Amino acid sequence: RVYLDRIEQQRHLNAYLEVFDARALEQARALDGRIRAGERPGKLAGVVVGIKDVICYKGHEVTAASKILEGFTSLFSATAVERLLAEGAIIIGRLNCDEFAMGSTNENSAYGKVLNALDNTRVPGGSSGGSAVAVQAGLCQVSLGSDTGGSVRQPADFCGIVGLKPTYGRISRHGLIAYASSFDQIGIFGSNIADVALVLQVISGPDAYDSTASQREVPDYQMDLRHNKNRKFAYLKDALHHNGLDPEMREGYESFFEQLKSEGHTVEGVNFDYLDYVVAAYYVLTTAEASSNLSRYDGVKYGYRTPEKDLDLADFYKKSRSEGFGKEVKRRILLGTFVLSAGYYDAYFTKAQQVRRLCVEKMQQILADYDAILLPTVPATAFRIGEKTDDPIAMYLADIYTVLANLTGVPAISVPLFRHSNGMPYGLQIITREFDEENLLQIANNVL
Ligand code: GLN
Repeated sequence: RVYLDRIEQQRHLNAYLEVFDARALEQARALDGRIRAGERPGKLAGVVVGIKDVICYKGHEVTAASKILEGFTSLFSATAVERLLAEGAIIIGRLNCDEFAMGSTNENSAYGKVLNALDNTRVPGGSSGGSAVAVQAGLCQVSLGSDTGGSVRQPADFCGIVGLKPTYGRISRHGLIAYASSFDQIGIFGSNIADVALVLQVISGPDAYDSTASQREVPDYQMDLRHNKNRKFAYLKDALHHNGLDPEMREGYESFFEQLKSEGHTVEGVNFDYLDYVVAAYYVLTTAEASSNLSRYDGVKYGYRTPEKDLDLADFYKKSRSEGFGKEVKRRILLGTFVLSAGYYDAYFTKAQQVRRLCVEKMQQILADYDAILLPTVPATAFRIGEKTDDPIAMYLADIYTVLANLTGVPAISVPLFRHSNGMPYGLQIITREFDEENLLQIANNVL
């Protein structure tokens, strides 16, 4: 009830697309009964969770913040949701986001933008803006988002909270609406590392419904998070000296690295070499995958269909898709279709795959010598509403520090460490080897 009241009071933030009040209260009452009867109803008993509206919950509407899925009800729950429920979590509602998780500001939602609770003239980041604000404003305890190129870490950074993107394949994607399948990963927002670690523990692991979910055993993320030792950190010189990075933030990172050294850690600068190519490679590959994934929304199988009558099949598809998809989604379908087309395939798609391979090798090489890589999460603090809407390229370029982890599959976390003189928070991004979430969480907990 406390959370439901707060959600009501903070309606203007537009974080929730729908609140499952009746169902949530029913879950809470049932749990209360079980606890009174002496049962132990699970690791997350009574924990209030919000889910990004790209994650399916049986019997509930799921729209990907798109008009094209309006009115569509999910027939099954995502594996991550099943696992939360099995441990007693209460799913309180579905959270606003950019349409089909495409965006960096949450201004691309068909259901209106989300406001940053710290400064209502600024965006919360995206695409999981609603999930970030819900935790930031205390409208749930933890939330789920999805991170294809930074959509959990970037809004966490803008909102001053913790955001984790696990290793690709750590969490099943079954029931996660696909944007770019070889990049997508469910991520977790929380206000501290222990909460995020606990949720990760519950929702990770193999899944018969997702062959890309890793078979690796899930380690104990509840290990002593306070455990500290001298670490060997690398920072990427080309990232820190990139001219897009806010100079005050650069100084913040530099003095933080000095502090780490004075505490006995090693912090060394290394070159990544391919940083200028990562955004381009990311947008070529993800739009290519998206153009294929989104071909299923044809007006027949799901949600919206054009009301116009007497169309032949091709025109019916065209009309339904033209009316159902928003501008940014259309832009990406066009771009993705173009880079996959005969004659351009090798110049764009194949080339981008080669860049991806080089990035993977470089990442492995650096992480063979270092425990973790330290990076900014975003080159600037939260944008003003409307600031980047007319310039999609400028918006894409701001993804420079986050797309790296998705191109290479490694786990990454953003922790809120700093405050800018403009009053906004910004974070430190930490990256470790694949499936090394244990060290990632320990390091994050110790720096926070
Ligand atoms: N901003 C990136 C994009 O628009 C990230 C999206 C995401 O991670 N879902 O593609």
